[in-house]
Amino acid sequence: MKRLCLSPSDVLDFTWDKYQRKVSRLNHPVVIAWGLTSACDLHCIHCAVDAGEPNKDELSTEEALMAIDNMAEAGTKHLLIAGGEPLLRKDIFTIAEYAANSLSVGINTNGFSLDRSAAQKLRDSGVNQVRVSLDGAKPETHDMIRGKGSFERAVEAIRICVGLGFPDVGIEATISLLNYDEMPDMVRLASDLGVGVFEAGDMAPAGRAKKLAHLCLSKEQRGEMLRFLAEMQETIPSLIITSELPHIFIVSEEMQNKCTDIYSKDVSLGCGAGIVGAGLTVDGKIVPCPLGLQVEIGDIRKDRLKDVWANSELLKRLQSREVTGKCGRCEYQYACGGCRGAAAIAGDPMGEDPGCWYEPDLR
Ligand code: SF4
Ligand code: SF4
Repeated sequence: MKRLCLSPSDVLDFTWDKYQRKVSRLNHPVVIAWGLTSACDLHCIHCAVDAGEPNKDELSTEEALMAIDNMAEAGTKHLLIAGGEPLLRKDIFTIAEYAANSLSVGINTNGFSLDRSAAQKLRDSGVNQVRVSLDGAKPETHDMIRGKGSFERAVEAIRICVGLGFPDVGIEATISLLNYDEMPDMVRLASDLGVGVFEAGDMAPAGRAKKLAHLCLSKEQRGEMLRFLAEMQETIPSLIITSELPHIFIVSEEMQNKCTDIYSKDVSLGCGAGIVGAGLTVDGKIVPCPLGLQVEIGDIRKDRLKDVWANSELLKRLQSREVTGKCGRCEYQYACGGCRGAAAIAGDPMGEDPGCWYEPDLR
């Protein structure tokens, strides 16, 4: 590897170049994250989508299958089925199997209903990725957040999926002040359980967590969390230890090394909302990101995703990465770009990410 020793303005120029090359070739969504139902068998105190009962306007089975055809036509590669709890849809195996004929398919679950029979059906349906939510390394912590008995069920679901040989099993953790100190034990547990991925994000004050803003991480704690994940990645290379937060780039020497290797095409695009992928809400609305940037840019019942991807003005703006504020004068503008969902919640999807602790070196 031949690394460049780059000044902040060189970092900006170098990553701008890699970003433009990559994004100009991405003329289709790589991943669609689909909230299939708002029904859930748990009632987590921090649920960002306030899940519980099914939404009356959820897609029917027939509409869901048409949506999959629509995604495939647009060139989508990976479908991530989430919720609520997607296993509560009676047609989940039909939908998963149909999707797996044309797409790579992942499922996000709380694990509560993922017994051996359900896991085997998912495996037989062609699902290749499973993510189970785990918010603690011990029952006391996880169950306080997600409900009595949920830790044992989630851990058992993980064991079953690892045992069944799914190609990609991972843990997703939502970090708040309730489990911040438990992260080292959570990573160790992930490693002991034999999963391939441990991914941590921080609790956002959205949905039911709006009332828990006092338990959200500070900017500095978010930075500490990401630094911790990057350090653990060095210690346990057999486990992918990461975060969906784009700021992971600024603390990960490994990611930076790849990006500044002149012989490598590797690049970090940072926030992927509207660039790498988009979201689909329970009632079929196409949005740039299901987690924060829930601005409707199309309707899967009426629109071709292919056309939405080609013509949406908001997607064009996101792809341009012409962000403002602190993100617009940051050397990591193209490699991180700031969470566009967090910026949108603060009032402007192209504004600065209000949750970032980093002070840019560029002036
Ligand atoms: S966080 Fe997930 S498991 Fe918990 S209530 Fe919400 S959708 Fe259900
Ligand atoms: S200022 Fe914006 S682009 Fe720079 S590291 Fe922070 S979030 Fe990323």
